[in-house]
Amino acid sequence: MKKEEARRKGLAARKALHPVERSRYESIIFEKVMAEVSDAAAVGCYVSFGDEADTHRIILELLKRNKRVAVPKTLKSGLEFHVISSMEELKPGVWGIPEPENDDIIPPREIDVMLVPLSAFDDQMHRTGYGKGYYDRILAECRRKTGIAYSCQKTDEIETDPWDVDLDCVITECSG
Ligand code: ADP
Ligand code: MG
Repeated sequence: MKKEEARRKGLAARKALHPVERSRYESIIFEKVMAEVSDAAAVGCYVSFGDEADTHRIILELLKRNKRVAVPKTLKSGLEFHVISSMEELKPGVWGIPEPENDDIIPPREIDVMLVPLSAFDDQMHRTGYGKGYYDRILAECRRKTGIAYSCQKTDEIETDPWDVDLDCVITECSG
């Protein structure tokens, strides 16, 4: 399947989720993410917006557990991860997504687990994002790359380009 089609299907399926179902799945995903990062000292995590699986609750819990939590700032050149100590530090940035404003930049290679948003994924752990390649530009440097999605975002095999970086796993409400 072409990336464009995978993206469109994955995003449409996510948008069509019933709010009650969505909320139930988010709780399952939350528990699985906590298990995934139990040994990690530094965790990178997107700040969810729109109908992405919620990460605000995840970030708060990571901070509570004294992990180093890094969230992305979107620059023209790509994503830059900043270590934060509270959600209150975040201010609306590009597309209104809350972003860090401090100077505490952490290189992706120092992040133990990177929690990654996606539009679609397949059995081979191929990933599509929103079509700007932002995560492709940093994932090659990350140690463990963990996608967060709903199972309805899984598609038939996605055709990839040389710059696409596969994930190590995708956590969904159905993943093992
Ligand atoms: P997405 O991964 O967001 O679904 P694509 O894989 O289609 O999107 O990538 C979108 C664009 O991002 C590509 O056309 C490419 O020009 C750019 N891109 C991807 N990876 C890199 C990279 N490592 N360095 C520079 N540009 C990149
Ligand atoms: Mg890509």
